[in-house]
Amino acid sequence: MAQVLDGIRIRDEILRESKVRVERLAATGRPPGLAVLLDGDAPPGELSVRNKIRACEGLGIRSEKFTPAATVSTGELVAMVEELNRREEIDGILVQMPLPKQVDAKRVLLAVSPEKDVDGLHPLNAGNLVTNRPGPRPCTPSGIIQILKRSQIPIAGQRAVVVGRSDLVGKPMAFLLLHENATVTICHSKTADLAGVCAQGDILVAAMGRPALITGDYIRPGATVIDVGTNRITDRAQAAALFANRPQKMADFDKKGSLLVGDVHPVDVAERAGAYTPVPGGVGPLTISMLMVNTIEIAERRRNGC
Ligand code: NAP
Repeated sequence: MAQVLDGIRIRDEILRESKVRVERLAATGRPPGLAVLLDGDAPPGELSVRNKIRACEGLGIRSEKFTPAATVSTGELVAMVEELNRREEIDGILVQMPLPKQVDAKRVLLAVSPEKDVDGLHPLNAGNLVTNRPGPRPCTPSGIIQILKRSQIPIAGQRAVVVGRSDLVGKPMAFLLLHENATVTICHSKTADLAGVCAQGDILVAAMGRPALITGDYIRPGATVIDVGTNRITDRAQAAALFANRPQKMADFDKKGSLLVGDVHPVDVAERAGAYTPVPGGVGPLTISMLMVNTIEIAERRRNGC
């Protein structure tokens, strides 16, 4: 029987540890401060921002939300970011995507001071990651490393296969695994014999955004499978094909009219893997907790002047 890697338990463990660090910072000066900038008219971003701000409140991190009008220009947003860069009590700056259409998002992201870049997406921090220097790491892949370590899954010496090469997930995931001494292969949409390559992985990370593409034949028996994909399916026939023997899942579908599925086939993985992250409840919960950890680490680094 495959072990289910419970992201909610690990998230709660990390949040408990984080609370102690926030209290220590608050007691010796001030709590960490996170500024969140988002398009005031963007509802999908809004929900995720609400969860981030709630997480800050739970830990005692001071958060400030900025919602410029949907007509904001690139120059105005860059000026807002530069002002936040200057403010002493702001440790982390989060620019929530998507920004309004007329805004050059890359220019806004580049304006964030690398030392306050809580998402770890600034090119300078990408360089810090590649060269294994200190700096904030992208939240989702660093959460996955936490899942593996806190579940006592060995990484060093293991063959790791990462499917997906985005700057947000796939590439940083591959470098984090490499720095943990895994032997890493990166796959993408042009990879030949994807199933054959995936089936060599002791650790398989799927980050494509393709519902249930990773079926049993992609999974090495006993492998650890990490499913990053979050795909909402609304087609009942597709849901029924995936969850033929799970009446509860179909009841959920009928209630909500949709289901969240990962990039990994939910039934095949349970039969073939040694351990795996479920969707929902696997990787997702870690992303916000690692944002909190990044904010705290930046505050600690700034406090210690390094
Ligand atoms: P992305 O920027 O769209 O990148 C997708 C990657 O998958 C690309 O590198 C693409 O290859 C590759 N790919 C697409 N179809 C493929 C196929 N058929 N075979 C092999 N590779 C394929 O997506 P992302 O931002 O990395 O996110 C990936 C998934 O993770 C999405 O479902 C997203 O919603 C989810 N996600 C979840 C969390 C979380 O907290 N749980 C956080 C971030 C992202 P090419 O480069 O060749 O196009």
